[in-house]
Amino acid sequence: MKNTLAIDIGGTNFSIAVFEGTSLRGKLSHPTDRTAGPKGMLDRIEKMLKVQWRDTAIHGCGVGFGGPVDFAAQKVIASTHVDGWEGFDLAREVQERFGAPVVIDRDSMVGVLGEGYFGAGRGFRPLFYITLSTGIGGGLLTENGLYRGADSFACELGHHTIVPGGPACLCGSNGCLERMCSGLWLERDYGSPAQKLFKDPEFVSRYVIHLAQGIKSCLMFLNPARIIIGGGISQAGDLLFVPLREELARQMTSWWKANVAVVPAALTGESVLWGALALVAEHIYKQNPARLDRLNDAVVPPSLQA
Ligand SMILES: [Zn+2]
Repeated sequence: MKNTLAIDIGGTNFSIAVFEGTSLRGKLSHPTDRTAGPKGMLDRIEKMLKVQWRDTAIHGCGVGFGGPVDFAAQKVIASTHVDGWEGFDLAREVQERFGAPVVIDRDSMVGVLGEGYFGAGRGFRPLFYITLSTGIGGGLLTENGLYRGADSFACELGHHTIVPGGPACLCGSNGCLERMCSGLWLERDYGSPAQKLFKDPEFVSRYVIHLAQGIKSCLMFLNPARIIIGGGISQAGDLLFVPLREELARQMTSWWKANVAVVPAALTGESVLWGALALVAEHIYKQNPARLDRLNDAVVPPSLQA
């Protein structure tokens, strides 16, 4: 049985998990220190591993990073949310520290793998996954695997313009979907976290207009079988999804006869960790993640079954 270390590096929290085969043996999450840089975070992960899984040999490690990753070069390209990661050779550093082969990808790409093979996206292809969190990102899983585009930048819907000439975004542009709808900016603009803001139905009815505009573009370009929304903000549940579906139906108009299924992630807070397992299975263990899916029917808790 292979032991896999899964790491999810986000702008607000980071999580690590150890899988034995396809069983999740344990998970730890901590707030991200945005100024500590990669070394500070890897030091903390190393300590967490030593305390929790001292005697566990790790055979493969998968990392989902909250920013653009050059998949072919296995390097972080940049991060707008955490300092000091630009051009960082994350895969090599993790491999040297933990002594196991490593594969990294952008977190939203890893998230779609998790939901696509173990969560709410099983049997749905093409599958589009949106992470609605500190930032906003997307991932596309087709019948033939992940679609990354020519330079690993595919599905970066967070920086697609929703409000031309709108407020300045961290990417240097204006009025991006991420600028209008992400957790980081909700907190900066309104002084409250999304969970609190979403208790006001009037606020949500305004919020979903911009979010639905972003999702409409995904639907029009890709006609996915299903769109899954994960990330911290998606945990608002019906407070978000009921008005979002209404607004989306309004924007799509009756001309659109295709599918508009938008559902929350099933692997709440763990989509990227499960996806890291699928990424390692494919690229390090050379196993088809679709086979892991069938194997995993026995181990996914009933509450997570789609
Ligand atoms: Zn932007």
